[in-house]
Amino acid sequence: MASTPAPALPRHLQDRLEAGLQRRRQGYRTRFAPSPTGPLHRGNLRTALIGWLDARLHGGEWLLRIDDLDGPRNRAGAEEAIVDDLLWLGLHWDGPLERQSERRGVYATVLSALRGADLLYPCRCSRRLLADVSAPHGALTPYPGFCRERTPVWGPQAGRLPSWRLRLGPGAIRWQERWGPAGCQDGPGTVGDVVLRRADGVVAYHLATALDELLMGISDVVRGEDLWPSTGAQVAVMAALGAPPPRYAHVPLWRDGQGERLSKRQGAEGLAGLRARGHDAPAVIGLLASSLELIPPGSRLSAGELAATLAPADLERALHRNDRGVDKP
Ligand code: GLU
Repeated sequence: MASTPAPALPRHLQDRLEAGLQRRRQGYRTRFAPSPTGPLHRGNLRTALIGWLDARLHGGEWLLRIDDLDGPRNRAGAEEAIVDDLLWLGLHWDGPLERQSERRGVYATVLSALRGADLLYPCRCSRRLLADVSAPHGALTPYPGFCRERTPVWGPQAGRLPSWRLRLGPGAIRWQERWGPAGCQDGPGTVGDVVLRRADGVVAYHLATALDELLMGISDVVRGEDLWPSTGAQVAVMAALGAPPPRYAHVPLWRDGQGERLSKRQGAEGLAGLRARGHDAPAVIGLLASSLELIPPGSRLSAGELAATLAPADLERALHRNDRGVDKP
């Protein structure tokens, strides 16, 4: 992807970004970043365990960030339930718990800087219009750029504010993928101009997440493979800020007997159900780890004991995937 000159950020923010990049160079640091939309299910817990293990096996840090920007989707009590579940399993995080909702000011400052550097444009295309021009069968098509060349009007029109899109340059967006083929998505052909601020004023997930990886000094993003397709957009945001991406490790999702991924929405079983069936923490750690064939089924052990039995190569062996689609480089 063509590199753009980084926009001028206020000094204090530039310093924080540089401190984050410096922290990244000092050693391994990852994060678990659930949205507080409901209790964690077995699949989420397994992803948390993988990140925690990876951090411990690398002598690094595992941070906890609550992705709570999308107010209407948040559920009362979900954050407390997530915290309780992680502690009950013995997955202790390093440093203070972080919340995206506490960084709204930082996101707004970065959005203004990107806008000031002419990297954004206002978009008034409705979801409905974009769905109509999309490929059938729900295939994701990148934004076709209808508003790209229009004279920018940032204020309300017909009572509606625009969303703010990042103008993507031509070329491929690449990143390092630790347990699979190198990540590559075509900027215009696959990712398209990314919404960074929604028309309802909410900061978009891609902006908040990309910026947080930088500010938190994340060296390795370990998360579910459902987020692989979001990576190009996040790497593009980092590039717009003049920052290289961290390394990524997208991990397989837990699927049910029909091959369907577990989902919070469909009420996939979480710790409450497992506890009600008499499982204690060692049994649950055993269940999560044996589902990856890291240890034999029926094992009972603490998270710390599991870390002590494994080497980084064991995780690599259990989690490496070659079947992930990438754009032709
Ligand atoms: N908050 C997102 C989710 O719960 C995950 C973000 C991430 O790990 O990048 O799906």
